Amino acid sequence: MAQTDETFDFVIVGSGGGSMCAALAVKAAGMEPLILEKTDLFGGTTAKSGGIMWIPNNRFLKEAGIEDSTEQSMTYMDAVVGDHNDTPGATRERRLAYITRAPQMVDFLVDQDIKLKRHHYWPDYYSSAPGAVETGRTVFAELFDGSVLGKDFGNLRPNFVPVPVKSEEAWEIGLYKTTWLGKLTLAKVALRMVTAKLTGKKWLGSGAALQGRMYHKALQAGVDMRRKAGVERLLTDDSGRVIGVATRIDGEERTIHARYGVLVNAGGFARNQEMRDKYQPGTSANWSATSPGDTGEMIQEMMRLGAGVAQMDEMVGNQAAFPPENADGIALVVSEIAKPNSMVVDQSGERYINETQSYMSFCQGMLARNKSVPAVPSWLVYDSQYNSKYMVTGTMPGSKKPASWLGEGWLKKGNTIEELASKCDIDPGTLKASVERFNGFARKGVDEDFERGGTAYDRFLGDKGNSPSPSMGPVEKGPFFAYQFYPGDVGTYGGVITDTDARVLREDGSVIDGLYATGISTASVMGRAYPGAGASVGPSFVWGYVAATHAMEQAAG
Ligand SMILES: Cc1cc2nc3c(=O)[nH]c(=O)nc-3n(C[C@H](O)[C@H](O)[C@H](O)COP(=O)(O)OP(=O)(O)OC[C@H]3O[C@@H](n4cnc5c(N)ncnc54)[C@H](O)[C@@H]3O)c2cc1C
Repeated sequence: MAQTDETFDFVIVGSGGGSMCAALAVKAAGMEPLILEKTDLFGGTTAKSGGIMWIPNNRFLKEAGIEDSTEQSMTYMDAVVGDHNDTPGATRERRLAYITRAPQMVDFLVDQDIKLKRHHYWPDYYSSAPGAVETGRTVFAELFDGSVLGKDFGNLRPNFVPVPVKSEEAWEIGLYKTTWLGKLTLAKVALRMVTAKLTGKKWLGSGAALQGRMYHKALQAGVDMRRKAGVERLLTDDSGRVIGVATRIDGEERTIHARYGVLVNAGGFARNQEMRDKYQPGTSANWSATSPGDTGEMIQEMMRLGAGVAQMDEMVGNQAAFPPENADGIALVVSEIAKPNSMVVDQSGERYINETQSYMSFCQGMLARNKSVPAVPSWLVYDSQYNSKYMVTGTMPGSKKPASWLGEGWLKKGNTIEELASKCDIDPGTLKASVERFNGFARKGVDEDFERGGTAYDRFLGDKGNSPSPSMGPVEKGPFFAYQFYPGDVGTYGGVITDTDARVLREDGSVIDGLYATGISTASVMGRAYPGAGASVGPSFVWGYVAATHAMEQAAG
């Protein structure tokens, strides 16, 4: 055994979704956890994210009188995820464990004074499937005043939305040109920003609110958390049990012993091009919105110990565009693609997909189309009505766009569809025919080709101020515009295979003693589907909680 510099009861690799939750569960059992984070900021992609958790049968649904149960949730997951030989992370047993433990995890967080609530309307993504809840099963954190973190505020990874909006408000603001609720919400958020300036509050929303609250609680509970502390190796004893980690803290090599287990919550491999080329050829690390630490080495390290992996070809696709002068360098355009007066075509100018389905299945469809017709990137084509009513790559509706968009040729513009087509190197006749066919459907409000707007979720992404369908409006008023977008991602979705106690399994199904994993380091319990908003952050928290409670029970037993 290597020389041990320090010993803790439970060592957690990474500071993302499930990490602080697991640490609090360890603390609640009277034991000492340690969190090691590779980057200089805590929170992982989770802090950067929407912070939404998909939690079936949760307490907030009950409080609101909305029907859900273990059976109903299982019916939904059976229909949407199903049983497949190639998704061993999503067996029926694991799905049931998720559905059973997820509400317990939320109850635990509420007991820890983490302020959570449910989104009043964010439909399950297969809202027409049996067992779906139309108003959704999503849970998120209330806004958090980061100023209470004091000097530690700067150690928290910032969110992708730089303004303090609640999850529910974010959807409304984009519609401020077309709905009264949108205008009111915009005014409310503006007022919040002004009063925050006057009062010194540092409001955080979305994933930063969730992770800010978790971080605050972890600090209060005395959890030992270290930044710039990348784990390089998992240490084992002669029996193969994982007994600790080798890390590098501030450049210095350290060996840390874990009495009751190591939990890997180190994210996926979205930023590792070599792994992408191997498992997800044709996709690019540059299209990912994940945090910089998402480099997959801990998955490889667990494989070195014999861990089986699955679903490595799967990612949570998210339509991404790269306009010049974008502060983040990447703009996620999921809801923009679903707005009326716009449509998506492949590089031949043909429409091929329901633009309003969930982002993961949309990107799966885009990559599948690309096998027969070039569709990576695809074009979003929109007209001047869209331009004045809706956000374009995150810029406010109707606002003046940077001159470089047209100047550098990122945005194409034409007074007619034919002129636009020529600028996009598309056959003008093909694009014209696609637009005319789409416009016919849009005027009727029924998409006979791809059922755009066919489900509650589809319509949720649209514009409730638009008729006859919130999802479709004709592309008819020039000038017309088009830009290209890619099947980007917000994380990979495959990794090591784990059991119902979040223990890592070898390829033969045996348990690697002492080793747990959660989050997108694992093969998702959702298989190849995305049942609802929060299907990444939810499982990260839930399996982190499950791992910690299992390890602590073992310790006590
Ligand atoms: C803009 C955006 C919005 C999103 N919105 C949502 C949403 O609302 N709901 C949802 O479910 N999903 C959402 N996602 C996806 C989701 O955020 C991620 O899939 C999820 O947060 C991953 O959580 P995790 O706990 O597995 O990993 P992370 O939160 O990424 O944490 C992993 C941590 O491990 C660290 N690490 C890596 N290697 C090591 C090592 N060797 N040693 C030590 N530390 C290491 C990393 O630096 C990182 O901090 C969104 C993603 C983005 C980008």
